[in-house]
Amino acid sequence: MSEVRCLNCLKRFTVHSQVKEASCPHCKTKYRISWPTPNQAKVRGLA
Ligand SMILES: [Zn+2]
Repeated sequence: MSEVRCLNCLKRFTVHSQVKEASCPHCKTKYRISWPTPNQAKVRGLA
């Protein structure tokens, strides 16, 4: 698992390893997620 920062509400949330999409639990914005390393998630943009 890893944490990313929501680009919309700027809160951090946890994403499970290797998921390709995740929704912010705070504002429900859906993002595409990439994994530069297996333990480091990164928001790529809106899904
Ligand atoms: Zn959010």
